[in-house]
Amino acid sequence: MDYIKAKTIVASKKYPEQWFGCDFNMNIYRGCCHGCIYCDSRSECYQISNFDKVVAKENAIELIERELKGKRRTGVIATGSMSDPYNPYEKKYQLTRKALEQVDRFGFGIHIITKSNLVARDIDILASIRNHSPASVGITITASDDELSKKIEPGAPLSSERFAAIKKLTDRNIYSGIMLIPLLPGITDTADNILSIVRQAAVSGAKFIYPMFGVTIRTGQREYLYRGLDKWFPGLREHYTNTFGDEYECSSENANTLSRLFKAECKKLKIDFEMSKIIYAIRDNVKIKQTSLF
Ligand code: SF4
Repeated sequence: MDYIKAKTIVASKKYPEQWFGCDFNMNIYRGCCHGCIYCDSRSECYQISNFDKVVAKENAIELIERELKGKRRTGVIATGSMSDPYNPYEKKYQLTRKALEQVDRFGFGIHIITKSNLVARDIDILASIRNHSPASVGITITASDDELSKKIEPGAPLSSERFAAIKKLTDRNIYSGIMLIPLLPGITDTADNILSIVRQAAVSGAKFIYPMFGVTIRTGQREYLYRGLDKWFPGLREHYTNTFGDEYECSSENANTLSRLFKAECKKLKIDFEMSKIIYAIRDNVKIKQTSLF
């Protein structure tokens, strides 16, 4: 694996607390090899050349240690917004694991977003963080069917493996759930897919599902997505170009119906889907309550 220089790693969030109660953001890796056809992070605006090649930030753990030590107050750190912290290299290099050890050591909380079941490896550290601060995990699952997930997320573990990871996490009382983002019009925006995800989530003990009934598309990402459509869903590219053109927010034409169906099923199975309730539950799950801090 190659390395790049980084001046900082733990950045303050512009709008703290709106996203899973997080105050800071941290990316240890740059780029991702999971190859999801809809990946937003490969958009031109982020200027990440050779996005499929994973590189790590040089001296990441020393930088994180120094930065956390220097913060005036603790808070919750989000990781997984621009690259997957549990890419295949993490198995060997364990940079995310070592970063979590620093998060725990300095009394911070964590919210992880990933598409890999490897996150379950670090349950021990997450459990330790939960003793003093929020510790939560969102695993992205957009297709309930493994064969479909292989097409649209070819480098990531199968959806069934991700459900199994949620079960392991929630069995250890780590507040975990599903990022149902995005739903691809004409592919995953079906009632069957959504209901199946919600029902499998309930069986896995998922505490929340955070959905998006469509996909955002930007320059750079669009071309890659269309190549994926041509490969696996011939003819769909024309539907996308005719329906969405150059639009950024591309909603499912059934968004309203699917949203109603989704909410009704979540309510029936007692799964949270509103951010305010999710944040409340994440904080409520801390073993020793530190309401003055969070
Ligand atoms: S796991 Fe996330 S960052 Fe990696 S390719 Fe998929 S969407 Fe992009």
